Amino acid sequence: MTKEERQKQMHQLDEGIRVCVKCPLHKSRTIAVPGEGPVPADVLIIGEAPGAKEDRQGRPFVGPSGMLLERLLEVAGLTREDVYITSCVKCRPPGNRTPRTLELDTCQENWLDQQIPLVDPKLIVLLGKVAISQLLGEEGSLRDLHGQTVERDGRLCLMTYHPAAAFRVPETKEIMKQDMAILRELLAGVS
Ligand code: URA
Repeated sequence: MTKEERQKQMHQLDEGIRVCVKCPLHKSRTIAVPGEGPVPADVLIIGEAPGAKEDRQGRPFVGPSGMLLERLLEVAGLTREDVYITSCVKCRPPGNRTPRTLELDTCQENWLDQQIPLVDPKLIVLLGKVAISQLLGEEGSLRDLHGQTVERDGRLCLMTYHPAAAFRVPETKEIMKQDMAILRELLAGVS
């Protein structure tokens, strides 16, 4: 598929996501957040769900977690503009609660599973337990899993914490920086 075809299909997905009513989260959202970044991209970042600021702007990771994510990406030698960023569910759960299984499965089947081959990343970075469990079925502790990679459909997935975890436990930021250094090495190996 040409780059132009990929971008056109991603644009069509974005439009579908913005009017999606396939799960109950559409009822409370302000604006759905499909994702953003270059298509194709070497790196795909997958978070959990939009927060309050994302819900108002329709863009992923524009709140406090996004600011930290940008600083962490620098450690990997990347900027926000280099990567495609999205989340497991595209609509903000009420009160920022954890997305429910039905919401996660519905959003993955309809949207995320179509986005991944269009981005066609060499590496996927999974931020936090929800993304890791949803994409890989890994239910272990992040303390053990972070910094490790698992292959999914022939694509390498690096597991790390969600940036929001660093606001609760400050040491997490240093651990995430180490994981970003691993990402940098992995990227050097695949490009
Ligand atoms: N956290 C996420 O997982 N996704 C966003 O878009 C913002 C915060």
